[in-house]
Order: sequence, then C-alpha cells, then structure tokens
Amino acid sequence: MAIATVNPATGELVESYEPYDESRCNAVLDAAARAQRGWAAHDVGARAEQLQGLAKELRARQDEFAALITLEMGKPISQALAEVEKCAACVDHYVECGEVYLRPTTIDMGVRYSGVRYLPLGVVLGVMPWNYPFWQALRFAIPTLLAGNGVVLKHASNVPGSALALEQLALAAGLPEGLFGTVLVEGGAVIPLIHDDRISAVSLTGSESVGRRIGAEAGAALKPAVLELGGSDPFIVLADADVAAAAQAAATARTLNNGQSCIAAKRFLVDGSVYADFIDATRAALAGLKFGDPTDPETQLGPMARCDLRDELHGQVVDTVAGGARLVSGGAPPSGPGAFYPATLLVDTSPGMVGFDEELFGPAGVVARADGEDALVELANRSRYGLGSSVWSADPQRALQLGERIQSGMVFVNDFVRSDPRIPFGGVKASGYGRELGRHGIHEFVNAQTVYAR
Ligand code: NAP
Repeated sequence: MAIATVNPATGELVESYEPYDESRCNAVLDAAARAQRGWAAHDVGARAEQLQGLAKELRARQDEFAALITLEMGKPISQALAEVEKCAACVDHYVECGEVYLRPTTIDMGVRYSGVRYLPLGVVLGVMPWNYPFWQALRFAIPTLLAGNGVVLKHASNVPGSALALEQLALAAGLPEGLFGTVLVEGGAVIPLIHDDRISAVSLTGSESVGRRIGAEAGAALKPAVLELGGSDPFIVLADADVAAAAQAAATARTLNNGQSCIAAKRFLVDGSVYADFIDATRAALAGLKFGDPTDPETQLGPMARCDLRDELHGQVVDTVAGGARLVSGGAPPSGPGAFYPATLLVDTSPGMVGFDEELFGPAGVVARADGEDALVELANRSRYGLGSSVWSADPQRALQLGERIQSGMVFVNDFVRSDPRIPFGGVKASGYGRELGRHGIHEFVNAQTVYAR
C-alpha cells in the first residue's frame, strides 16, 4: 500500500510520501534512544510538567488537527474535534495521576527497605491504526513517555499527515528532540524494527491477523508486547430493558466514527420478548442519522476510510444475506465518488453467518434473537473476540452480575462501551492482550524492579 493521504470523501489524492529508507529509520531510532536516556534521568514529576505542553498544543490547534483527521480518514468533523480534546484530557489525567501510578511500592519484610520501583524499559515501538489517528497513537504514547520511555511511531499508511503532525506536536510541546519519532514505512517494514536492539517493546493497535504476526515476532525477540486488536462486541438487550434508550444507543454505538471502532457494538443480541420492538426502534434511529459530507458539523455518518475497506464490508453484508439474514436498512453503497456506505442493519442472524462470526469494521450491525439470559450469554460468547460488551436492563445490579459470565475485557451496563483515560482498556481471546489507559496502561512498559536492602 502506498503511503499517501487520499480524501475518502472524494477519492482525491492529497499527498503521497516516499517511504523512509533504512538509513532514515536508523536516524529516527538513534535519536529516540539518545533522547530517552536523558529523559529517563528526570523524575516523574519533571516529565509530567513537560508533557503538559502536549495538552496546551492540542487545545490551541484543535481545529487544525481535527481538519487533518477528517481529511485523511473521513471522520465527521464534530467527532474529530472531540478526538483532539480527548487526547488533551488524556494528558491531563496522566499529569494528575502519573506520580501516584508510578509511586514505588513498599513491601514490609523487616529489613531496611524492600519493595518495587517502576523504571522505564527504553524505546517502545507503536504500530498504530488509522481509525483514531491522534487518539490511538497518543493514548499509547502519553503514559509510555511519562514512565520514562521514548516512542517510535509507525502509523497506518493512509494517515501519514497525522503521523508527521504528531511528531511535530511533540517538538512544539517542548519534548526533547527525537524522544517521539515517526517512521513513514509500510507494514512489512515493522518486523526488523521489532528485532532492533534500540527497541525494547512493541504496542500494536490493529487487526487480529497483524496481531498474530507482531505477537509472534515480539515473542521471538523476547520483547514485551501489548496487542489491542479487533472486536465483535455484543450489545445485549434483556427483556426488562428500556428498549427505546437501548435502540438509540445501539444506532450511535454502531455508527460512531463511521462504524470503524474496535469497541463499536457489532452484534445486537436481543431477548425474544422485545426483539421486534428493538429492530423497529433501531431502524428508525439509523434512518434519522445525517449521512454525507464529513466536513459538515451536522454530519453524523461520513465515508469509510478507504474504498477497499468499504468494498470488503459490502462483501460481508452480501455474504450474510446469502447465509440467510434479512436486510432491513442500508446494504447498498451509493453511486458517486468516495468510500460512503449507508447505516446497515441485518436481522435474524446467527453463528455461522459471516456478519456474526467476523468483525464488521464499518456501519453495519447484526441482530440475533435468544430467549432468556442464559441463551443470550451463550450467544455473546459465540465469538472468537472478547473486547467489550454492553448489557441493557432495568436492573443494573443483575446486568453487572451477568457481565461476569461474558468473555470480554470490558462490560458496560446501560451504556455503550467507551474508552476513557481513567479506566483500563483492552480485551481477551482474539481481541489481544495487555491493557492501555488508567493505572494498568502505564504499567505495561515499565521494569517493575524489586529492591531489597538490609
Ligand atoms: P491493520 O491493517 O492491522 O493495521 C494496523 C497497523 O499495522 C498499521 O500501522 C499497519 O500498517 C500495520 N501493519 C499492516 N500489516 C503489517 C504487517 N504485516 N506487519 C506489521 N505491521 C503491519 O489494522 P487497521 O485496518 O489499520 O485497523 C483496523 C483494525 O484495528 C480493526 O480490526 C480494529 O478492530 C482494530 N482496532 C483495535 C483497537 C483496540 O484498541 N483493540 C482500536 C482500534 C482499532 P499499514 O497501514 O502500512 O499497512
């Protein structure tokens, strides 16, 4: 795939870039390794103070960065603005809580001192996706830097402008030169970087297949890895749920970011007693979304990020219908330029159908019926993924208990799954391993060094 910005709303090539050759990559890695040594010598408080500059820059240049996100991957501009603010809020959170998260732990053993302290690992390679070009990269980089590490970013090939803007942002924020470097390379070029001695660990946010590859290479290199992979999150509507509220949330959860979110609700599993009502209400909510130009502040559903991804999604929808599902909304790409795909709902689905078994990474959801909680939980777990899950019920306590039986890294009750800097984020099964954000996220790339002194 070429490294290029193509506007997904128009199909026009905006800019293409020559991939970095080996010597340019070497220079980025050298600079990161050098800068990291100096950075690690500061204490957490001093690092936090410097990182504050990132939040200031992000807020001061929110319009510019949001416009770039919308240009490169088609996110509706209102959501792109929110993405930039969320990055700044992530800085705020770690500036406020980083010292507490990284405070050494004392373990009383009756000697002068014993416990654990948290030291940086070195330079961490971040391999990132295009769907939240600023958020995905920064939610990994902010805690990683605060812990005293350096960062080398290999961003997705369709968001090179964002990759370069992030590198420039770190400099403008006053971080040491080279501490946050970007390499513009294609996916396959990542493998030698994982094995390079200047890289100590790797964090991937991306698809299951790339996760398997990077996980295997990191294992062979004996380097720690965090894998944030795909999902097919269940959204469970129990018999006593507020169906109107659930349907409204379902439409939002399925179409936010033009349907291209790992934690988007993708499988709507509905108790038989409210099945028909839920379908009617969700269909109406989807029909009410404003679909079109992502630069229009009113737009709620814009184009997908690339035409090949749109075509892949459409193929999955067609296959699911061929497998016996009923299409009740959308299902046909509009004619004309751009990677647009309408909000699509497939009902009467079941395991064994493409749309139920595979991740649908675009604005198409499947609805399946089951009678009673046990059958709904069983259906929820009939997926190789295990990222998030959402349960809707008039009895939140019961819903929380039900969540213990769902194989997912996160469970939300009466809300759709969201990421937030304060709470850990990650999955189980084929959704990967490790956690980002919160206390857990900052502990992924540290050396928890045991100390013992008589
Ligand atoms: P992707 O194709 O896996 O790409 C992710 C990153 O991996 C990109 O930087 C890509 O570079 C790189 N890559 C591609 N092939 C590679 C290879 N053979 N070796 C090493 N690196 C390689 O995923 P995507 O299409 O960008 O993103 C969508 C996927 O990400 C979905 O499955 C989604 O669910 C998942 N995701 C997960 C989370 C989470 O937190 N769990 C969050 C967001 C997205 P190129 O662009 O150069 O190919």
